Amino acid sequence: MIITRPGDQEGAAGNRRSKMTGTAFPYVTMPATDGVVINTVNFTPGAHTYWHEHERGQILQVLAGRGLVQSEGGPVEVVRAGDTVWCPPGERHWHGASPESYMVHTAISLGATSWADPVDDSDYHDPEAREEQ
Ligand code: MN
Repeated sequence: MIITRPGDQEGAAGNRRSKMTGTAFPYVTMPATDGVVINTVNFTPGAHTYWHEHERGQILQVLAGRGLVQSEGGPVEVVRAGDTVWCPPGERHWHGASPESYMVHTAISLGATSWADPVDDSDYHDPEAREEQ
């Protein structure tokens, strides 16, 4: 048995490696094991990832707050605590907090993650962002 605690992580705060707009506080819940890595990320209001994709997909479990997610070519969707998001393999997307709320999610990433460009402000601030019905 291996127990990983947040205090075991080095440098697990802030805007690391230019994959994020704004400030988020990620920590590794489970280090990479057989191509699976589990991160818990605390996004401050307005913080969100760059566009990226996961080789074998990703599961996002929203634990707290209000966030936004978007797949390339799709609408910006609002997510809240209790929501689970499946990002299929190779589908480019971003995720993060909404402008006025923090958001905490656990991200279960399968395979390698490929990072791309920052999200345009016009996408992030899409006035048509959809609430679930
Ligand atoms: Mn992702």
